[in-house]
Amino acid sequence: MAVDASTAQPVRLAPIKLAIVGVGKIARDQHLPAIAADPRFELVAAVSRNATVEGVANYHDIGELLAAGHELDAVSICTPPVGRATIAMAAIDAGLHVMLEKPPAATLSEIARIEAHAAAAGRTLFATWHSREAAGVAAARAWLAERTIERVTIDWREDIRRWHPGQDWILEAGGFGVFDPGINALSIATEIVRGAWVVDSADLRVPEGRMSPLAADLRMTCGDVPATAAFDFLHEGPQQWDIVVDTDAGPLTLRMGGSVLEIDGQVTEAPDAEYPRLYAKFAELVRAGASDVDVTPLRLVADAFLVGRREIVPAFAW
Ligand code: NAP
Repeated sequence: MAVDASTAQPVRLAPIKLAIVGVGKIARDQHLPAIAADPRFELVAAVSRNATVEGVANYHDIGELLAAGHELDAVSICTPPVGRATIAMAAIDAGLHVMLEKPPAATLSEIARIEAHAAAAGRTLFATWHSREAAGVAAARAWLAERTIERVTIDWREDIRRWHPGQDWILEAGGFGVFDPGINALSIATEIVRGAWVVDSADLRVPEGRMSPLAADLRMTCGDVPATAAFDFLHEGPQQWDIVVDTDAGPLTLRMGGSVLEIDGQVTEAPDAEYPRLYAKFAELVRAGASDVDVTPLRLVADAFLVGRREIVPAFAW
C-alpha cells in the first residue's frame, strides 16, 4: 500500500477500473475470481460475442466498449491469440493499460508492435505467463542458480478433449495447437534455466485437415545445456506436466505444471495462486508506470514452427 509522505499513513489508492475481453474458459475459471478477490481492481465491463458477466456492463466487441464512455483504466484480454493484437492496439489508443493472456499475440511482430505502441503511449503492457507463477517455480529457479545444469527434459502430455473441449481455434492457423499448453512449459523452463535458448530441430505432427500440430518434439540447447520437450495433446492416461532438470547436485523435478517441486526426494507443494499473483503484478506495474514483456517462450514456439519437420497424421475429431 502507498504511504502519504506528510502523515506517514497508508493511503488507499482508488481501484483500477478494468474491463475483461473474451469471456471463455480461462476468464471464467481464473480471471473473474482473481479480479473479484483483489480490492485493487474494480470490474466495470466485459466483452464477448456470446457470453455475459453478471453485474457489469456487457458489450459484443472492443469498439462498442470504448464507445460506451465508461471511466476505465485497463483491459485484460483473454481471447485466443489471433485477433488479440487488434484489441490491444484499440485499447492502448483509448489510453488504457493492457494485460495479455499467454501467448501474448499470434506472432512476434504483433507483440513487438503492441509493445512499441504501449511504450509510445506511456501505458502499461503486461504479457503474462501464468505458469511462471506456479508454486514451485521461484524456489526451483533459486535452487538451480547455485548448481551446474546438465540437461532439461520437458514432458507435457494432456488430453485436448478434456481440457479444451470444442476449442476448434486451437487447431486453426495461429491457434498454436499443442503449443497452447506447451508454451507454458517453455515459459517455466526459460524462467528457471536462464540463458540463450535455441531450438535446434523439431518434429510437428499435424492432423489432416487442420493447421496446427497435435504433438511436437523439440530438441533445444540453452548455452551448452541440451534440452528436449515432448508435447502431446492426445494423452489419455494420467496427465503429465513435468520438467526435470539434471544438475551436478542431482535432479530437480517440477510436476503438475510447476506446482509441485521435488528435490532430493523432498516434495514441496502449495495451493494454486497463479492468477491472483498475475493481477497483483499488473496492479504494481500500473502503479509504477512500468511494463513487463518477455517474448522468449513465444520465440521458441515460432522457431519450432520455422525449423520443424511436419508430418500429417490422421484427422482429429472431438
Ligand atoms: P475459450 O474458452 O475458447 O475462450 C475464448 C474467448 O475469446 C471466448 O469468450 C470467445 O468467444 C472469445 N473470442 C473472441 N474471438 C474469438 C475467436 N476468433 N475464436 C474463438 N473465441 C473467440 O478459450 P480459453 O481456454 O479461455 O483460452 C483463451 C486464452 O487463454 C488462450 O490464449 C489460452 O492459451 C489462454 N489460457 C487458457 C487456459 C485454459 O486452461 N483454458 C489456461 C491459461 C491460459 P465469444 O466472444 O464468442 O464469447
